[in-house]
Amino acid sequence: MARVTRFAPSPTGPLHLGHAYAALVAAERGDRFLLRIEDIDQARCRWAYEVAIYQDLGWLGLRWEVPVLHQSARLPLYQAALDRLAAQGLTYHCTCSRGDIRAALSAPQEGAPMIGPDGPIYPGTCRDKGLTEGAVRLNMARAMARLGEVAYLETGTDPGTHRFDAARMSHEIGDVVLARRDIGTSYHLAVVVDDAAQGITEVTRGADLAPATPLHVLLQQLLGLPTPIYHHHRLIRDSQGKRLAKRDDARALAKYRAEGATPADICRMVGL
Ligand code: GLU
Repeated sequence: MARVTRFAPSPTGPLHLGHAYAALVAAERGDRFLLRIEDIDQARCRWAYEVAIYQDLGWLGLRWEVPVLHQSARLPLYQAALDRLAAQGLTYHCTCSRGDIRAALSAPQEGAPMIGPDGPIYPGTCRDKGLTEGAVRLNMARAMARLGEVAYLETGTDPGTHRFDAARMSHEIGDVVLARRDIGTSYHLAVVVDDAAQGITEVTRGADLAPATPLHVLLQQLLGLPTPIYHHHRLIRDSQGKRLAKRDDARALAKYRAEGATPADICRMVGL
């Protein structure tokens, strides 16, 4: 079976060495290599950054299939997936602000609050309120009562079959937001719908996203979508060991290029 991989940047800043590494790993591991522009958060995305993504990847010598998928054009599909989960009774509305959640979590309780893929595990304040507006959250306990377990194969960091039972999913992920009030979807929902739509067989991405993977597999199962293989790769760090963030413009690929670096230099810098 042809291996289909993808690189899925958000056009919210210039690509840096970490992105170059992610794109090169994805392209190298795929018989077919696809590109997806993750631009659901239109307030933060810029067309100029998207153009720069094409320039940088082309300069690195990468070629991808066209047309490129844009998440901003797919909001009705994310809504349909959300409706499907809602119809199964697996979601609820939530009007908590970040401050509300912080306050609820600072109330006396046993142990420190657990941190999930999106921050502190939601304490469930709105779960049984029957609200009809606000953000949409996943009811994790109900979802896991249906599935029992989620499992997936990891071939990158920490390789093997990873299994998560209901207790672990509630403890480590909890009732995450599936649709933000402002954009009507979330990274998690969009990535799951799109990986399936693009026929991705192997998701390659940074190890920082590994904690979200059990959630993605859970959503795939609830939506009747296939689960790809996951290949989380190491993160590229600066000389102080700090993870490169998009704001680190000093390390933008375009800057290295302007200073005369070649694609081979970039490969060397990221250890390829
Ligand atoms: N859009 C995400 C990012 O720029 C990557 C998402 C993914 O690979 O699943 O970090």
